[in-house]
Amino acid sequence: MCRNRTAISGMSATAISMGIKYEHAPDVEKQIHTIAEKLGMRHLQLSRLKVVRSKGSSSPRTIARCHALPKIMQQAIGIDAYYVIEVLSEKFDRLEQEEQMKTLIHEILHIPKSFGGGFRHHDYVCEKNINAFYKRLQANLNLKREMGE
Ligand SMILES: [Zn+2]
Repeated sequence: MCRNRTAISGMSATAISMGIKYEHAPDVEKQIHTIAEKLGMRHLQLSRLKVVRSKGSSSPRTIARCHALPKIMQQAIGIDAYYVIEVLSEKFDRLEQEEQMKTLIHEILHIPKSFGGGFRHHDYVCEKNINAFYKRLQANLNLKREMGE
């Protein structure tokens, strides 16, 4: 059921990245900041959550992926965790806004409360939870509109 895939190691990310072009995606980053703020996801350390748009991926069914700097890399380099959400331009950019939002909610739900470099899996990142978060997001956005902000 899951159209989004999570790269679970640097190796797999490298193996599938040949010929792919990456660029910073400030527009998508803004969407993610809105989601994080409206859903009160304070565990997301936004300065260490980057968003990248990729072009030229040959993954036929992937819309977005969540990457993390693994713990061993963090310790070897001496830095804290970073997460990168990658949206695949060819798929993501043509989605309706609702589907884009659900895709982004899916990816950020993979990031655990610890923000430590691991992932939550699809027992938690599932249709039911994504839809519940999306509903809450819509309610909070509407509330903001009604208050004339
Ligand atoms: Zn997923």
